[in-house]
Amino acid sequence: MRLFLALVPPPALRRRFGELADTAHAHCRGRRVPDDNLHLTLAFLGEQPAQRVEQLANWLSSMRIVPGQWRLDRWGHFAGPGIVWIGGEPESPLVQLQQSLREELEAIGIASQPRRFTPHVTLLRRAEQPPGPSLPDVAEDWSYTRAALVLSEPTDQGSRYTPLAWTRA
Ligand code: ATP
Ligand code: MG
Repeated sequence: MRLFLALVPPPALRRRFGELADTAHAHCRGRRVPDDNLHLTLAFLGEQPAQRVEQLANWLSSMRIVPGQWRLDRWGHFAGPGIVWIGGEPESPLVQLQQSLREELEAIGIASQPRRFTPHVTLLRRAEQPPGPSLPDVAEDWSYTRAALVLSEPTDQGSRYTPLAWTRA
């Protein structure tokens, strides 16, 4: 089973990210991430055997993360895969959160990606243009208290995500 740890935006923020994805799509084309899939990846675990999933769900359910607020104030681009994203300061508290989760996963024998973490929310894949100056300013605050263990399954319409467990509030 293909798994990752993520922050899942609350509904109002998800809709706002969706609007930004529409705006970005009008400028940059490519494949827009559907609203249901908008998220911040903290750790990509990849394929894990089914019998590990319960262990991982228990592990995450007993954990608390340090709550925080993430200011999203910029557009970004990963040129290779043509990813257009929104994000914030590179040195945010999310970096410590990502690192501590990576270490805790390592302690239970699970390697995770990425090693070098750029906190971002992907809006488009295979964009034909990088985000340019004509895009509106981004100014969103994301207050987060919990991280999710998410199952990613392929479907005809792309990947479907299902949260399996949450950290404690
Ligand atoms: P698809 O692969 O069908 O286009 P997807 O990328 O949204 O859809 P997954 O590949 O299952 O779905 O990825 C789930 C999350 O993990 C996404 O945020 C993705 O960017 C991230 N991810 C996937 N592979 C890696 C990797 N090797 N390193 C870091 N993050 C990854
Ligand atoms: Mg992928």
